[in-house]
Amino acid sequence: MSASSKRAALYTGLIDRYRDRLPVSDSTPVISLCEGDTPLIRLNNIPRELDIDAEIYVKYEGLNPTASFKDRGMTMAVSKAAEEGSRAIVCASTGNTSAAAAAYAARAGMTAFVLIPEGKIAMGKLAQAIAHGAVVLQIKGNFDDGMRLVKEVAGEAPVSIVNSINPYRLQGQKTAAFEIVEALGRAPDYHCIPVGNAGNISGYWIGFSEAVGQTTASCTLYEGAENCPYLLEAMTDKRPVMVGYQADGAAPFLRNEPVTSPETLATAIRIGNPQSWDLAHAAVNESGGWFDEVSDEELLATQAMLARREGVFCEPASAVSLCGTLRDLQSGKIPAGSLITCTLTGHGLKDPDIAIRGREAVETVQAELGAVKDAILRNI
Ligand SMILES: *Cc1c(COP(=O)(O)O)cnc(C)c1O
Repeated sequence: MSASSKRAALYTGLIDRYRDRLPVSDSTPVISLCEGDTPLIRLNNIPRELDIDAEIYVKYEGLNPTASFKDRGMTMAVSKAAEEGSRAIVCASTGNTSAAAAAYAARAGMTAFVLIPEGKIAMGKLAQAIAHGAVVLQIKGNFDDGMRLVKEVAGEAPVSIVNSINPYRLQGQKTAAFEIVEALGRAPDYHCIPVGNAGNISGYWIGFSEAVGQTTASCTLYEGAENCPYLLEAMTDKRPVMVGYQADGAAPFLRNEPVTSPETLATAIRIGNPQSWDLAHAAVNESGGWFDEVSDEELLATQAMLARREGVFCEPASAVSLCGTLRDLQSGKIPAGSLITCTLTGHGLKDPDIAIRGREAVETVQAELGAVKDAILRNI
């Protein structure tokens, strides 16, 4: 094989992969870090150990270039900002959006301004924003305050907003649904997903709908509706039931109103006033799905179980999807025999403090054979 034909097979990111289903043209400069194409991993051990009869797959979005699904939306948002001639982007973030914005801005030669809630973002995410050279503005407020400020400042300064209110974000994020349909050869019966600002559940629903060549009522609510949907040939013939899970201290969809002081250890979804409120409701209603909530204790237990039993390390907010799924399977709300996909939104390494909190897993021994051998025999 010649070098150039080898290169033709090189994966070059989701814009190139799904170009005909995205609002890009030949003159759009593609700003990509080869995001997307993430693994869909079947859970082997957990269903067996819990005696659950279901086929459960996790979409491991932690394996994107900045280790969360935010890269899918960011490649689109930053490419379109570059096409429009922007020199700077801005976002409010619970951490992962700022990491992605910082990296894609670096790639595009732009400046990223990121507003984060003081003291409430995971260390890995802050490290990423700093490493990629973003201007980090730590605000004395929460994500919802940051979101309000970003909307206000975009009217006053020459910066493009790259939060998920930017319609191109959802366009990029919908591609995860295409990948799932392609990997399974069909849509799952249920798709389960963590909900914070509610952009991702909305993006998946657009994707699953376009995959059946069908329009969705949510598209009429959607600012970028002129770009949506891309009704090409159907990839499959049915859509999943969409289930959105929240942390119980930050569950506006369960309270049916914004939450003023959201609290959860799962900082990625510590959001009280979701921007994609109507779109997320449309996804759940049109699909016959529901919202539910889980406690911090439950989500941390699921995060640990996934890491220990399946070798898949996700961040606390991500574990919410599997946590709710297992509970709904055990109660029968999700019927036995179902094919279920769960989005794991970000990598566990983002938040190492939570993973080692309260664990006495590290033992100190003398640097000699006897001590190491003893330790092995004691623990085997
Ligand atoms: C952003 C994020 C979420 C929430 O996604 P929304 O689109 O805001 O609902 C969940 N988990 C992680 C790890 C995130 O970074």
